[in-house]
Order: sequence, then structure tokens, then C-alpha cells
Amino acid sequence: MGRRDRRKAYEEENTRKKSGWRGVLLFILLPLLAAGIWGATRLLDKWDASLTPSTLEVENREASQTLPEWILPSFIPVDGTSRRGEALEGVEGIVIHYVGNPGTTARQNRDWFANPESEVSSHFVIGLDGEILMCVPLTEKSSASNEANGTTLSIEVCHPDETGKFTRESEEALVKLLAYLCRRFDLTVDKIIRHFDVTGKICPKYYVEHEDAYAAMKKRVEASLREDAA
Ligand SMILES: [Zn+2]
Repeated sequence: MGRRDRRKAYEEENTRKKSGWRGVLLFILLPLLAAGIWGATRLLDKWDASLTPSTLEVENREASQTLPEWILPSFIPVDGTSRRGEALEGVEGIVIHYVGNPGTTARQNRDWFANPESEVSSHFVIGLDGEILMCVPLTEKSSASNEANGTTLSIEVCHPDETGKFTRESEEALVKLLAYLCRRFDLTVDKIIRHFDVTGKICPKYYVEHEDAYAAMKKRVEASLREDAA
């Protein structure tokens, strides 16, 4: 072998070795790359899921855009009992209730509705400080007023003690909410009723036992509507 041939053979050998290594490298790197891509996709999916808001979050956000800021949407899940997801046939009246559980907060009552075992719900809950939570959309039936559920909105009001008397703040909020709903659904004050007027149940207790307090509250709603009209 001449010098030139030896050199050629050496170069050939080298090339063979190099391509051999390349094969091994590819054999190791390709699966690694594939695993890397798969892992990254999984991570992205997880990240995406953590960013995707839940159905309730979307509902609450959308509702807040069409409601005054003093009403806080806090919808309960559609569970087939408390919230059935059935459309209201229309809004022909508004039914007032008391929660019947002295000292409980609006949030606690809302959370009780959210429990499918409760089988009850209300469009609104008014708390002891006058805070207003909305638990069921205005287009859907609540489970509050028996045979009137299909055509009425419902408002549950919290109360500090067994008398069922509402706090000044709660009643203030009730008047404000009733006036707002009467305006929004073009209802007159005589379309505001008590659960008692539907079934004879002593609810809301204080307004059943104190007709004067009930009448005075409705007068205030009427005055508020008149103010608007003027
Ligand atoms: Zn009731």
C-alpha cells in the first residue's frame, strides 16, 4: 500500500466510524426528543386546564356584566334537584322567603342550596348586612316556592333570631332588589308575594305575623318605583 492508499483507507475507516456514532446518537436522541415533546405537551395541557375557567365561573362573570354591582352572582351548580336547569316560563311575580335558620349568613345558605341533598334553591339570598347573592340565573326556575316556581323569582332573606325579623340592612336591600326586579320585569308591587300566599306556610315568618311591617315594606318599593317614573 502506498502512502496515498493508506491515507485513503484511514479516511474511509474514519468515515465509517463517524457514521456509526451518528447512528448510535440518533438511536438515543430521537426517543429522548419524542419523550420531551410528549412531556411538554402534557405540561401545556395541564397549564391550559388550570387557565380554563369552570362553567360556574363563566356564568358568574357573564351575569355580573348585566347586573348592578350590588348583586353578586354566586351561582350553584346544576345538580338536578336544587338547580334543575329548567327554563322559567316567565316572570309573573316575586316570592319572598325567610331562611328559617337564625344567624346564618347569605354564603352559608347559598352553600346549602349548592348541596344536592338540600333540594332547595332561591334566585337570591340577602344576608344580615344587606349583601345580595344570586344563586340561580333569572332565566331559570329556582326550587323555593312550590307550584309558583315556574313563573316567579324567589328571594330568601337571612334573619338574626327566631322572630324572623329582618335587620334594617337586610330589609333595605330587599326593597332595593324588589324595586330593581319590578322595573326589570315590568311588574307592579301587587306581584310581590310571600311564600305564605302560595302555600300557607308561615314564611317569611315576620311578614306573616306582622302584616303592617309587610305592607310598609311594599309601600317603600312602590315609592322607589314612583321616584323612578317621576
Ligand atoms: Zn319560604
